[in-house]
Amino acid sequence: MNYATIKNNDIANGPGVRVSLFVSGCTHHCKGCFNEIAWDFDYGEPFTQETIDSILQMMAPDYIQGITLLGGEPFEPQNQPAIVDLLRQIKVKYPNKSIWAFSGYLFDKDILTGKLGPWEITKEYLSYLDVLVDGRFVEEKKNLSLRFRGSSNQRLIDVPKSLQSGEVVLWDDWQGQERGMK
Ligand code: SF4
Repeated sequence: MNYATIKNNDIANGPGVRVSLFVSGCTHHCKGCFNEIAWDFDYGEPFTQETIDSILQMMAPDYIQGITLLGGEPFEPQNQPAIVDLLRQIKVKYPNKSIWAFSGYLFDKDILTGKLGPWEITKEYLSYLDVLVDGRFVEEKKNLSLRFRGSSNQRLIDVPKSLQSGEVVLWDDWQGQERGMK
C-alpha cells in the first residue's frame, strides 16, 4: 500500500484531535471528490513498518484521541492488509484510543458481504473500528453543515454495536437507530 498524507493534529475528521492517515488508491471516482490525486494506488509513499512506528509516535500524546483512516479508499482489498497491520499495533499500544474510518463502500451492502478481499482480514479490520463513515461522496447531496461527512447520504456507523446487534446502528445518539440492514 502507498499513502498520500499523514496529519498529526487533525480536528476535522472525527472527535477531538486525531492523527489522520490518507491512503492511496480509490476505485469509486466520485464526482467532486476532494482528493482525486489519491485515486492512483501508486501515488505517494510506500507504507512501511517505519511509517507505522512514526504514526504510533504521533499518537502518544494524551490529547490525541485516536486515528482516522481516509483516502483514497481504506477498504480497497489491496489496502486492507497493511491497515490491519497498523490497527493491530495501535490496539496493543493504545487500547483506549478510538479508530475511525471513511469508506465509499457501504457497511452492510459491500463490506459485510465479504466481497472486498479475504473475509478474515476484513473481519479483523472491523473488530478494531469504532466508527465507520460509509457511502460515496454524492455531489448533489453535498452539505457543508454536516458533522464529519461531505454529503447527506453518508452514515456515521457505530461498528461494535452494529456487529453485535446485526443491524446498522448509527453513532450519534440523536440519529437513533436505522433498523434492519437493507
Ligand atoms: S470514495 Fe472518497 S476518495 Fe474515493 S472518489 Fe469518492 S470521495 Fe474520492
